[in-house]
Amino acid sequence: MVRAEDLVVETFFVGPLQMRCSVVCDTSTGDTVVIDAGDEPDRLIAWNDEGGGTGPNWSSAPGPVRAGDRTVVALLNTHAHFDHSGHIPTVRKHWGVEWWLHPDDTFLQSLAQQSAARWGLPPLPEPAEADHDLAHGETVHVGSLAFEVLHTPGHTLGGVCLLLRVEDAADHLFVGDTLFAGSVGRTDLPNTGGDFQLLANSIHTHLWPLDGDTVVHPGHGPLTTIGHERETNPFVGVGAGEHGAYGRGKYA
Ligand SMILES: [Zn+2]
Ligand SMILES: [Zn+2]
Repeated sequence: MVRAEDLVVETFFVGPLQMRCSVVCDTSTGDTVVIDAGDEPDRLIAWNDEGGGTGPNWSSAPGPVRAGDRTVVALLNTHAHFDHSGHIPTVRKHWGVEWWLHPDDTFLQSLAQQSAARWGLPPLPEPAEADHDLAHGETVHVGSLAFEVLHTPGHTLGGVCLLLRVEDAADHLFVGDTLFAGSVGRTDLPNTGGDFQLLANSIHTHLWPLDGDTVVHPGHGPLTTIGHERETNPFVGVGAGEHGAYGRGKYA
């Protein structure tokens, strides 16, 4: 388990939808995992390889991790909407690493180019195919880092949350668009399998039992915690009742 003093988590809000790409580094080994490397590949590469470019929007480190001290060892995805996965082929080729995705999002992934076109966005590369399947209840060991996989369908069929347990500090949970600060992911997007009751059930079953101080890194918007959302989220929090305040969230 990674020690709190060795862990650096950095957020890059990338692309027109300002999607959160999380870069997780164990500074005791330099092993680095990039979660949802969906856009701005040049920016991610410049920072991870040389400490160059504009860098992250937010970092848990007191100062930058020194250039050359980190090695990207894997790419993981919370789900396959194009804003989260569209540029995986670019970074996977550059770093020569493998990519993990839940197989229930394979079809969605195959539509990345059409989805971006529908939003009127620049063309994407030919969609990647995952090298490894993420499976509920399994722990993915990548370099010196380990992530527990929680399958949380509802925003997409293959949506997962990735739990990074930390020694002597709060754990971190990378949730994609399953949960946001004060909201939840949209369930009305085409070809996705979105379903609000399924999403609420996933959150109630797999997220609410986690420690309240677990830091939640959503796919869009600010950080939050499990405890705060469990108490106050108007869609799925304890006060929202079985059906929540609304039937859908607001982000893609
Ligand atoms: Zn998104
Ligand atoms: Zn999404």
